[in-house]
Amino acid sequence: MSNFECDLVADLLPGYIDRKTSNETNIFVERHIKSCQECRELYEAMIGDVVVADRPVINKRKFRINSIGKMGLIVLGYLVVVVLGLVAFTYIIVNGVL
Ligand SMILES: [Zn+2]
Repeated sequence: MSNFECDLVADLLPGYIDRKTSNETNIFVERHIKSCQECRELYEAMIGDVVVADRPVINKRKFRINSIGKMGLIVLGYLVVVVLGLVAFTYIIVNGVL
């Protein structure tokens, strides 16, 4: 295969893996990958990356960050209430209002 096609396939592969390419492009990429070992290896390496860094890992991270964020807000809210309560309580004790 020509170097031009290899460059083209290398450019198209990310979109092809994300299924953003057209049918014609998919056919072209698939045909080239089948006949060109270099590009097939590149494709398999990219798929390997995608599988490693794909949904489960990323979504779990996002989910964890989101739940930590929500928990953090709840904890922060409680802390503010507790601190304000303590400050008010201390103020009342010190000034003997009650
Ligand atoms: Zn190639």
